Amino acid sequence: MSKIIILMGAPGAGKGTQARLLQERQGLPQISTGDMFRALKEAQTPLAEELRVIMNAGRLVPDELTARVVKERTSQPDCRRGYILDGFPRTTAQTEMLEELAGEQGHQLVAVLVDVPFGMLERRATGRRHCPICGEIYNVHFKPPAVDNTCDLHPDTQLRQRADDNPETMKQRLVTYERDTQPLLDYYDRSGRLHRVDGTRDPKAIYADIERIVMASE
Ligand SMILES: [Zn+2]
Repeated sequence: MSKIIILMGAPGAGKGTQARLLQERQGLPQISTGDMFRALKEAQTPLAEELRVIMNAGRLVPDELTARVVKERTSQPDCRRGYILDGFPRTTAQTEMLEELAGEQGHQLVAVLVDVPFGMLERRATGRRHCPICGEIYNVHFKPPAVDNTCDLHPDTQLRQRADDNPETMKQRLVTYERDTQPLLDYYDRSGRLHRVDGTRDPKAIYADIERIVMASE
C-alpha cells in the first residue's frame, strides 16, 4: 500500500539525512512546506496570491491554508506511490487534516521518530568545531582532532565554533521542539502508528530500520 511517511526528530537528530536516503532509495518525493511556501511566493495562482497577502502582512499561515497547499502539491502524479512529509503536520489541527487527506488519496500514514536523547544532541552541537581553512568538521566528544583544537590538515590553525552551537541556543531549540512536537508524537502513539528508531547509531543503521518499518506496515 502507498504511504505517507511523517519523519520526526529533534534539531540535529539527522532527520534530513534519512529523508534524503528514503527519497533516493524508495523513490518517494519529499514534500516540504517550507520549500512550497518559498516556491508559491513567485507563482501566479489564486492559492499563491492568497498566501502572499498573508505572508506580506506578517501573519501566520492558517492550518487550513497550509493543508490546501499540501493537498495541491500531493495530488500530482509523482506522489501517487506515496511521499515523505517535512514540516507538516505541525499542529494537532493539521494532523486531522492530514488524516482526511490520506483517506482521500488512499495512503496509509506512518510516523517515524528518529530518537536521540537530548543530552547527546547537546554534545553533538556544543562539541562541534570546524577548520576555517578547509571546513573539516570535528567534535570534541565524538570526533576529536589528533591535537587539541587544531585541524589535522592545518596544524597551525585553531579550530572554531559556530556562534549558534552554544548550550543556551541549543537548549532553547530543544525546548521549542519538545513543546511543538510532543502533542504530535502522542497523537500517533495513541493510534499505534508511531515508530521509534534509535537515532544514536550511524545513519546507515538508522536507515535500515526506517526502511524495514516503511516496507512492513502494510
Ligand atoms: Zn583544515
